[in-house]
Amino acid sequence: MSIPLGGVCEPGTTRLNKTGGWRTFRPVYDYDKCIKCKLCELLCPDMAVLPRDDGFFEFDYDYCKGCGICANECPTEAIDMVLEEK
Ligand code: SF4
Ligand code: SF4
Repeated sequence: MSIPLGGVCEPGTTRLNKTGGWRTFRPVYDYDKCIKCKLCELLCPDMAVLPRDDGFFEFDYDYCKGCGICANECPTEAIDMVLEEK
């Protein structure tokens, strides 16, 4: 039996793995507190913070793993982490 030396990963395959299914807590915006500083978008490790046309942001819950980094780093506490209900 021959064993291959290495594997080959096709680009873009992480799109198929909807990591939002791992989430225990879900981030939720309070737009009244948001100052549109973009920190949540910049710091999200999963690129799950999406800009909207009005300058605010929304979460892509297909890929947000609920790590809470965005909520921890938001300077105005405009993001709450709430228990996921499934
Ligand atoms: S980090 Fe907070 S204040 Fe800044 S854009 Fe995100 S939600 Fe708004
Ligand atoms: S909870 Fe984590 S993965 Fe989800 S949007 Fe915030 S920083 Fe990104």
